[in-house]
Amino acid sequence: PPFPIFVEGSVVAGFGRGGKQLGIPTANLPEAVVEQALADIPIGVYYGWAKVNTGADCSVLPMVMSLGWNPFFKNEKRSGEVHIIHSFDNDFYDQHLQVAILAYIRPERDYASLEALVDDIHFDIRVALESLQRPAYAEIKAASFFQS
Ligand code: ADP
Ligand code: MG
Repeated sequence: PPFPIFVEGSVVAGFGRGGKQLGIPTANLPEAVVEQALADIPIGVYYGWAKVNTGADCSVLPMVMSLGWNPFFKNEKRSGEVHIIHSFDNDFYDQHLQVAILAYIRPERDYASLEALVDDIHFDIRVALESLQRPAYAEIKAASFFQS
């Protein structure tokens, strides 16, 4: 697919399992975004930039995004979930989230344990932070999409 892919929408509540308890909260994109703008890209893990209007912190931050069925949690619908690599003081449900998807990291996997899932996500985060240092990505961070 042609990267970057820019998507945006209000943060919706998910099932509230996994994420926060594991130290890896994921802000869920609206179903319409997943079914439309992200309908044609492969299931898996991506990295890129994200910006959320929390009032306090609205800078453009690194993110990893999972697009998939979450086989570990046996979801019945495809979801798009964004973990922003940043520590926020508060939740930001219903706030406007903007995402620039820059590259694909790996396909979705199923796991024997939660620990294995978390290990993989930590590795994805390292890949994202490393890759996002490329100068070309700094330009996207400054793109007009994020200025609004
Ligand atoms: P849910 O199932 O409702 O998505 P999570 O446990 O995945 O529950 O938590 C996600 C929520 O946590 C987000 O909607 C957001 O409000 C909040 N949150 C706090 N810090 C982050 C972060 N760094 N990245 C993504 N979401 C975060
Ligand atoms: Mg979530």
